[in-house]
Amino acid sequence: MEENRKTEKENGMDGDFLFITEIGCMDGRETEPVERFIKNTVVSEGESREIAIDKVTEPGMDAILSGDSNFTQIFQVYKKSEISAKHHKSSTAIVVGHSSCAGNPVEDSVHIKQIEKSVKVVSGWNLFTKIIGVFVDAKREVQIISSIGEGKA
Ligand SMILES: [Zn+2]
Repeated sequence: MEENRKTEKENGMDGDFLFITEIGCMDGRETEPVERFIKNTVVSEGESREIAIDKVTEPGMDAILSGDSNFTQIFQVYKKSEISAKHHKSSTAIVVGHSSCAGNPVEDSVHIKQIEKSVKVVSGWNLFTKIIGVFVDAKREVQIISSIGEGKA
């Protein structure tokens, strides 16, 4: 299996990409605000590469990572994130929770606590040098809840 894996260069997709890893909910309402946040806030000014956001998604990801939901095992989330980190050389992960989450129907204040815990869990994986936990609020604005690691992507 491993020997059949082509290098990223051979795989092509025709470009030079900066990969960022989004670990969040499957909810499509977080897609646009998080993409905008990454491009405006996470990526260094003057970055010439195209931004490619690898998405690791589950319903209620903040509850899964903080141990409050067993919808998916954390190990599965880890394995997906590992592909982004190791094969795409992503060094930055954005952990996302959001208001009105069907997969994790709790108060916003609970999401915020879960996001804080999730950032620590992802940091413990030692896959990324920077982890930012964000909450997409009821106005679909992105609030930074916590972050580990320095600098921009
Ligand atoms: Zn959700």
